[in-house]
Amino acid sequence: MSHNNKDLTLSAPLSGPVLTLGNVPDEVFASGAMGDGIAIDPLNDCLHAPCDGVIIHVARTGHALTIRADNGAELLMHVGIDTVELNGEGFALLVKQGARVSKGQALVQFDLDLIARQCKSLVSLIILTNSELFELRPITLKTVKVGEPLLHVVARLTGAAKVIDESVTEASATIRITHRGGLHARPAALIRKTAQAFSSQSQLHFAGKSASCDSLIGLMGLGIGEQDEVQVTCRGKDCEAALQALIAALSVAVSEEHHAPVAAAPRRENTEAGVLQGVCAAPGLVCGPLFRLNGIELPADPGNNVPDEQLQHLDSALEQVRGEIRHTLDQARQRKDVEEEEIFSAHLALLEDPTLLEAATTAIEHGSAATHAWRDAIQAQCAVLLALGKPLFAERANDLRDLQQRVLRALLGEAWHFELPPGAIVSAHELTPSDLLQLSKQHAAGICMAEGGATSHVAILARGKGLPCVVALGEQVLEVPQGQRVVLDAANGRLELTPDDARHAQVHQLRDAQKLRRQQQHAEAQGTASTQDGVRIEVAANVASSAEAQLAFENGADGVGLLRTEFLFVDRRIAPDEQEQRQAYQAVLDAMGDKSVIIRTIDVGGDKQLDYLPLPFETNPVLGLRGIRMAQVRPEVLDQQLRALLQVSPLERCRILLPMVSEVDELLHIRQRLDELCAELELTQRPELGVMIEVPAAALMAEQLAEHADFLSIGTNDLSQYTLAMDRDHAGLAARVDAMHPALLRLIAQTCIGAAKHGRWVGVCGALASDPLATPVLIGLGISELSVSPPQIGEIKDRVRHLDAAQCRQLSQSLLNLSSAKAVRQACQHHWPLS
Ligand code: PEP
Ligand code: MG
Repeated sequence: MSHNNKDLTLSAPLSGPVLTLGNVPDEVFASGAMGDGIAIDPLNDCLHAPCDGVIIHVARTGHALTIRADNGAELLMHVGIDTVELNGEGFALLVKQGARVSKGQALVQFDLDLIARQCKSLVSLIILTNSELFELRPITLKTVKVGEPLLHVVARLTGAAKVIDESVTEASATIRITHRGGLHARPAALIRKTAQAFSSQSQLHFAGKSASCDSLIGLMGLGIGEQDEVQVTCRGKDCEAALQALIAALSVAVSEEHHAPVAAAPRRENTEAGVLQGVCAAPGLVCGPLFRLNGIELPADPGNNVPDEQLQHLDSALEQVRGEIRHTLDQARQRKDVEEEEIFSAHLALLEDPTLLEAATTAIEHGSAATHAWRDAIQAQCAVLLALGKPLFAERANDLRDLQQRVLRALLGEAWHFELPPGAIVSAHELTPSDLLQLSKQHAAGICMAEGGATSHVAILARGKGLPCVVALGEQVLEVPQGQRVVLDAANGRLELTPDDARHAQVHQLRDAQKLRRQQQHAEAQGTASTQDGVRIEVAANVASSAEAQLAFENGADGVGLLRTEFLFVDRRIAPDEQEQRQAYQAVLDAMGDKSVIIRTIDVGGDKQLDYLPLPFETNPVLGLRGIRMAQVRPEVLDQQLRALLQVSPLERCRILLPMVSEVDELLHIRQRLDELCAELELTQRPELGVMIEVPAAALMAEQLAEHADFLSIGTNDLSQYTLAMDRDHAGLAARVDAMHPALLRLIAQTCIGAAKHGRWVGVCGALASDPLATPVLIGLGISELSVSPPQIGEIKDRVRHLDAAQCRQLSQSLLNLSSAKAVRQACQHHWPLS
């Protein structure tokens, strides 16, 4: 086949704003690993041919196709991101593979709404897949209409056109894995997704084993580590393209799993008589009867089952469990519980895994009961994961066991309800995430497990639910008789097996006293809080919605100290318009009676990405275009938000706060913009404008910032991260990212001194404000507002009322000279003990 190597102009296949690849919300495309190209955020619902040519590949699911232009350039057109997951739903192909098409011809009709609702993004790509022969030169980066000139395709001078051999049906290559931590769940999911976009069958081969790229657990089961060399083979018509895409996906560095396990605190030996020692997964002190939960035991299988019937049983059980998981996912999304959502999304993917399904089906075809076939299929995969000897892979075996139990329960028609005695402390070998959700719903008082890690999915869920939980207690916990009265001191990882009446009474007393204190604090929370020597401290609330503002108001908040406005922008496919934003901010103001509300402008970017607002890919997101820096790349987003904010009423109750400011010019720029918008809206007064102090540079420049700001609010979460150079979400550093570090206290002190020079007030809205041990230090250093989480308003007000500000001032100075956060905490506990 010969090609005419002339240059070519491609016309826009879709209408909408044009984006460069770097702005595409998908790591593989954005990194350019699939090839050079461009993206369009479509406003229409039909993909058109960008040039004359032949359709050489159509994805099974209709969301992507490749056209070979008459000059030989091959262009992959991919509608939306992660649309392969729709499995063809919402796509109507108007052409077949092999068809000749002309420029402008309609190729694929798609359901814009469905994709917007169910997929990551509508942003669609045009990728040159044979960039060794051609290069692309964009014509425009503005909004285009279908048919308008979009790109020049220019033949590379050096390359003679490669003759494309259609008879090649197998391609393979060897590649070194660069994914951090190896091919665990997330990278494996990326490989699976990439392979699914092609009709070729692809496999990975490693250490004498092979796995289909369609199978998440097959891939994980290979136990491929970072820097291992693997072979990739692709069979099928589009094998070359599939191979290239897989090589690209395999060499993209995906960071470790969000919940990557850390070396869990070592379990101390059980040296104390009558006490089992484990590892704290979620703190709390409870006592109650032990209730042992056993896994499902199956009777022996006679092995003479009718395969068709059993297959049908399995199908309907799987369907039932899928439905249940989808329901859990919906609820998690509504609650914006990202962790729960991630865990159960992975379960859904595992439930569709062909390796599992094939193993179970084969066993059924050989006469097994569906129950036994499913159990054996799961156990075989668990054994593979455990044999790898890598904790990250081994922890995922518990997720498989979860699916084993759920599907068995569905097959056996067992209701999923445990007969728990009141106040039960549940013990088990290792509970699954679904068990934990169920137990929490049924008001279990505590959880203790023989196995498990403090970073497992179960532990994360337990912490989120406030359910005391100890893991890694050892098999002995399973020998404790059913119903025995125990004490679970989760914070210290202890299970006391034989508490005497006195200890029992003590635990009850401690809990009762705590409950009573909370009730009293709550009753007094509506009043203002002043120290004993009359210094008034505002105790406001951090909220992220009008519902939370309502709760804060009921709990006695003196105002909202921080409204994180990201809630309006994340988890949605299209941007909220000015009207919607105005209503949302107004709702928060309305929920707060006559109290003031500090609204922080949008703090996304970095690792908080918006589906509809792709920002450039960042190699170092927390040091990138986040917070106020977004004004640099998307000024219109901030403008729109400011406009919406200026329209709330009464405007005097609204204060505006800018996140991540690191220099005075950023503040001056927004202040000027705010003045211009006020003039446009014919407002005579602009709302107060404050600056967040969450970057050391801002703390050091507090005096200069305070000259132009109306107030300062310290974000101790980020200030700790940037001062200590420790990721605030790093599980392994969690205990050390402590804002009580003397370095942080010095920055807080300097901020207060700088602000005082211009008569400005300083608040704290980071998590340190909610820590009662820190209250006296913060007051002592000059803070006059604490913005805390709504349930803690009463407790912090109570703490303020018991302090003497003059003494706080005097003692706080000495804390600045201590050597560590631990030393500061000890000193605080000594000076201002917390009962
Ligand atoms: C902070 O950094 O302390 C803060 C309050 O902001 P966020 O936690 O939203 O980053
Ligand atoms: Mg912050």
